[in-house]
Amino acid sequence: MSVITTKQCACKWVLRHQHKLKQVARACSLKVKEAFGFEEFRTYEQYDSEYSFRYQDLTTKLADPTQLRTKPEVSELKFGQIFTDHMLKVFYHKQLGGWQKPVIIPFENISLHPAAKVLHYAVELFEGLKSYRGVDGKVRIFRPDLNMQRMNLSAQRAGLPTFDGVEMIKCINRLIQVDQEWVPHSEGSSLYIRPTLIGIDGTLGVAQSESALLFTILCPVGNYFASGSDSVSLLADPSYTRAWPGGCGDRKMGSNYGPTIRVQTTASSKGRQQVLWLYGPDHQVTEVGTMNIFVFYIDENGDKVLATPPLNGLILPGVTRNSILQMTTEWKEFRIEERMFTMADIIKLLRTERLLEMFGSGTACIVSPISSIEYLGDLLHIPTIEHTNPLYKRIRDELFAIQYGHIEHPWAQVIE
Ligand SMILES: *Cc1c(COP(=O)(O)O)cnc(C)c1O
Repeated sequence: MSVITTKQCACKWVLRHQHKLKQVARACSLKVKEAFGFEEFRTYEQYDSEYSFRYQDLTTKLADPTQLRTKPEVSELKFGQIFTDHMLKVFYHKQLGGWQKPVIIPFENISLHPAAKVLHYAVELFEGLKSYRGVDGKVRIFRPDLNMQRMNLSAQRAGLPTFDGVEMIKCINRLIQVDQEWVPHSEGSSLYIRPTLIGIDGTLGVAQSESALLFTILCPVGNYFASGSDSVSLLADPSYTRAWPGGCGDRKMGSNYGPTIRVQTTASSKGRQQVLWLYGPDHQVTEVGTMNIFVFYIDENGDKVLATPPLNGLILPGVTRNSILQMTTEWKEFRIEERMFTMADIIKLLRTERLLEMFGSGTACIVSPISSIEYLGDLLHIPTIEHTNPLYKRIRDELFAIQYGHIEHPWAQVIE
């Protein structure tokens, strides 16, 4: 039998009426907006938890020293298998006025209602970014603002609550600080950051989730380039489609990835490392595995061109893609094009010996050179790694230098 205390009663009253209190607070802040004509007007008191949580409210509960795990050898790390000692959690409950206070806690399992929407309708989205220990020992994070923008776009598409990206970055930075010893000390390695947002309403209706959980976990990853297999061979099978117009292929939602696993397994069984995703009857080239794709070629006038498919709804707007486009545009050495190209275009470029390089781009490996494509029974040979001073390597070296602090650059922010 439970004894109901006054404190519990008071708590219950607040829980039951909190949404009303929040409504009053929101009405006030709307009036302020009207009075000042500011769209973004907000102060500490008026900060609306429906709009976002705040870094200021973050509390940290450190793991007991006996709970801390031993750190593995960097050389033995496999992607995503070992996690750090802490995690970040922020709940959203519409009934309680929206976002709750963020907490950093010891890494733990999540307990969910068996009807939680994420488990039935894949109401889930995630991000992937990295922090790096630089040559000066400082830890840097690469363009997190772009990941937060993208995460909010995914949240919108999934009908999940959005938040203030700046506040989230501050919380993530604090988490990295707490687990900073997990950022590997060897160059080429990094700490992978996985922010995730799930719909957790324990109700089976296919409807907007009124509660959500935003969490972030971290895992150290080894030196991608030390693993040997550098260039990749692809399977391009037009019978599979990753994304389509009006779909969600341009959002990092979990539901895009589960269905690719079997196709990837098929590719592996044929000795191909990745899938080249095609779209439409003309076999447009869209992405490679979970990377954006670039082709470097010589056009009919003899000019060099770097091309990548445009953000037409089928393409995930990669942070690395964006960085490569920005960087190479500044070089002013060749033409940059965001345009669609087909397998027929690739074959024509190969026949006329005008195809120089093809590579994938993504946070995991920066750039991944492509050496061959299996397409409709043929194995197309791509000469990416056969040039003396390949473009893919220059791009990789330049981004690498920024990430590991060899050169100071606004894209790599030091976590103090
Ligand atoms: C994450 C991802 C990318 C690469 O994005 P980055 O921000 O550069 O890591 C490309 N394509 C797909 C399908 C992805 O999921």
